[in-house]
Amino acid sequence: MKFVRFEKNQAISYGVIEDNRVFPLKGSPFDDNFVIEKESIGINEVKLLAPCTPGKILCVGLNYADHAAEVGLATPKWPVIFMKPSTTVIGPDEEIIYPGDFVTRLDYEAELAFIIKKKAKNVAEENALDYILGYTCGNDVTARNLQPKDGQWTIAKSFDTFMPLGPVIATDIPWDNLNISCTLNGELKQKSHTKNLIFGVPYLTSYLSKIMTLMPGDVIITGTPSGISSMMPGDEVSVTIDGIGTLTNKVVKREN
Ligand code: MG
Repeated sequence: MKFVRFEKNQAISYGVIEDNRVFPLKGSPFDDNFVIEKESIGINEVKLLAPCTPGKILCVGLNYADHAAEVGLATPKWPVIFMKPSTTVIGPDEEIIYPGDFVTRLDYEAELAFIIKKKAKNVAEENALDYILGYTCGNDVTARNLQPKDGQWTIAKSFDTFMPLGPVIATDIPWDNLNISCTLNGELKQKSHTKNLIFGVPYLTSYLSKIMTLMPGDVIITGTPSGISSMMPGDEVSVTIDGIGTLTNKVVKREN
């Protein structure tokens, strides 16, 4: 099943997408008893939004060995975790805003994102997939020149618009058997496979749920493979993952 969140006539709803038709939901994918309406809408008649509205976004750094090597850092023995605020989230085709004067390098990072379905606390690794609604494409946009500046990654990762998500939440896809790629203006920049993740989805869910309660709609992004480089205003960046689709966003320079 592929869940979407969409806007039509100024109303925001969840839906299920099938053959380019959107079937609105009564309720949300996080309810046990949502109902799929029978009447559908053409995909071109709605504006797709970020597929959920996370309370928190947890991020894994250095989760592909080839990326750790390209930035000159050792492969971690335990997950490197940071957070992005909910105000970073944008949806498909929304603009990534190139921030003001002190950002001199703005990078894309293609990542598999997963969405928590129900409240999760102290979850065992073997039960972790029961707590996951599904998967989407994420772009962990990063002001790379700010990352080493204060010894924490928060500032570099947290500008508004720095968390494109979408276009759908795909359920029932194998998290460890997906091709992932990133193109910039149509040129292939990143190409990997989720079998190369150092820390996998069940482990991350269990580990994080032992630290903080994970809530429905929370998003976890799993790290980026090698091939990072920078974007400029006017560039178009796309993240594609098997079974999910392609998330495309344009970079613009303007006040936000
Ligand atoms: Mg990242």
